[in-house]
Order: sequence, then C-alpha cells, then structure tokens
Amino acid sequence: MPFSDFHGNSDAVRTLREMLARDHFPHALILSGPPGSGKFTLSQMVAKAMNCLDRPVTDNLPDFCGLCANCVRIAEADALEKRFAEAVEARENLREADKRETRIFVQTHPDVLIVPPDPPQMLVKVDQVRHVIHEIYYKPVEGRERVYIFSDADFMKEAANSLLKILEEPPEFATIFLLTDNPSALLPTIRSRCMHLRLALMAPQEIEQYLATVRSDWKPQERELVARICGGGLGRARSFDLAAYLVARQDAISVLAPALGSNDHTELFRVTDSYRAGAEGRARTEQLIRTLYSLLEDMLFLRSGVPEMVRNHDIRMDLARMAQQVEFEWIVSATQRLGELESGMRRNLLRSLALDNFATALEHGLLTQK
Ligand SMILES: [Zn+2]
Repeated sequence: MPFSDFHGNSDAVRTLREMLARDHFPHALILSGPPGSGKFTLSQMVAKAMNCLDRPVTDNLPDFCGLCANCVRIAEADALEKRFAEAVEARENLREADKRETRIFVQTHPDVLIVPPDPPQMLVKVDQVRHVIHEIYYKPVEGRERVYIFSDADFMKEAANSLLKILEEPPEFATIFLLTDNPSALLPTIRSRCMHLRLALMAPQEIEQYLATVRSDWKPQERELVARICGGGLGRARSFDLAAYLVARQDAISVLAPALGSNDHTELFRVTDSYRAGAEGRARTEQLIRTLYSLLEDMLFLRSGVPEMVRNHDIRMDLARMAQQVEFEWIVSATQRLGELESGMRRNLLRSLALDNFATALEHGLLTQK
C-alpha cells in the first residue's frame, strides 16, 4: 500500500514526500480537513515512509514498501477505530483505581504512538501529553524517526500548554502530527509552531469511479449509495460494510415507523430488544444512531427542497413519503433527541430501553405538534 494508494489531495501528498526527500521534515505538522479526507491514513503513510526498512523510491520520491517488519507493525494501527475500541475496552476491565490512572493510547510499533482523544470527554488530557514528553526525547528504538499522531487534536487546556513545551524544544528525531477538522480551535501559539497542510474531500462521483475498480462486486446503485453515505471519504467508502449498513437502516426505519403513522409496534420492540449490552451491542447501537442521523438528515433535505443532497438515494421515494408526514420542526427536534440518546448511550444506559423511550418520545412529539 504505497503512496500511490492514496487518492485525491495529490498536492499535499507531493509536498509531504518532497519534505521526506529533502530529509527536512517539520517537527510538527497540522493536517486539517473534514472527517474522511484521509488525515490519519496519510500520517500513517508518512510514519511508514520514515521508518520503512526497504525505503523504495517511486516517481523519484521516497515511498514505503508496506511489507517490511516496520511497515507491517505500523499498519496494524491503520484500523484505528478498532484499536481504539480495544484500548477503551481494556481500560473498562481494569480495577477502579487503575482505570482512573490509565490513559488511552494506540501503539503497534515502539516508535509510532497514536494519541486519541480520551473518553468520555473525548479530549486529549494532560497525562497523555506528559507520557509523550516522557519518551519523545529518547532516540528511536527500531526505526529512524519517532512519530506522534494526535488523531483528533482537541486538547484540554492544561494538555495544550504541555504540548506547547514540546513544540518549543522539539527533538531532532521526532515528528508530531496534529490531525483536526477545525484548526482554528488550536491555540494560536501551537499553530504558529506547526506547518499546516489542508486536505479536501473527494467528489462523490470520483469515489464512485474509484469503487468501480476496487468494489466491482457491488452494483452501480450500491456504489452510488456508499459514495453518498461516506460523503467524500475514500477510506471509509473502500472498507464500508454495506450489509451491516442495510441491516442498521432497516432497523432505523422500524424505530421511526410508529412516529410516522404506523400502528404496529411489534416490529419496533423486536428491533429495540435486539440491541443488547457488551461491545458488540455498543458497535451496533452506534451504527444505528449514525444511520438514524443520516435518515433524519435526508428527510430534512427533502423538506428543504434540496433532494440532490439525499444520501440514501436508493430509498428516496420512501424517504420523501416519510418526510411528508412530519413538520420541519419535528425533524429538527428528533435530531436533538437523538443527540440526547447518543450521550445516554455513552453513559451506558440500558440500550433497548433507551431506544424504546426514544421511539416513544418521537411518536408523542408528533401527536402534540400535528
Ligand atoms: Zn517497509
């Protein structure tokens, strides 16, 4: 999986590789861009190129082999969401006292450390930055360059101030990536010490063309759906679990159905009852909530007269019918309630019960507003 595997944003990729070639890579780099624009994928590629044992050259620029021991181990963190979930799960299973002291990291290679935002606040905490300070001044163990990737550079105040100390005196052999979709939220003093590269999303049509080559097993209509759902995020589109999405979408429609005039609650209870505790139940619930958001958003597009924005294009007729049954305000307040449901889920409320309550609230909200 060399740099040629990164599609889109060719200027940014070229800039990064030219800096690698000149052996003059900045100590700290902000990669900004909307979710799905490839910030993490690209920073992982640079980490591999910096530490690849084979050091291939393509188009006269440094690349990575993807096959050597360093590339392979760094690549184990490519599936960041999965590694992050494992780290959170491992902390959940610790004793109460240890849990409080443990911060979340993802590390599959001794010289490449990923610092994700720490739940439940989903902010980078000072202890995480202290850990980076503690090790960043030691020389790389098995590679040539230590790489620190803050996968979502949203810092608590004290953490940001600690990071600033590193940026004031960075070691020769380390590179810090700050990935963010909102660079203006970073302290100006941090921004001024970093180089800044911006990534953009790809157009859905470009994603569809790309999917036609790598996912020829999908029908054209399915490729269009995935390209729209992933909103320009190529990595997400490539590994999109279409089957799981279609199941979640059917469930989401069942959750909305009573609020949209169906008198049959049996299907709703069957669906909500299937969302249980544990890690698997959590992943399914998160997918269900994301899918509910996308359906409500599509209904909002339809009510606002911008049908071309609809993501679930294949069921747009059904969505149009659903959207006709409610007021604009209903959709807005349903989206707010969904936000409350989402934060309730983070606090580990009983999932099936919370889903039932959500569906009931929607149904009654409709009765009072119509
Ligand atoms: Zn390699």
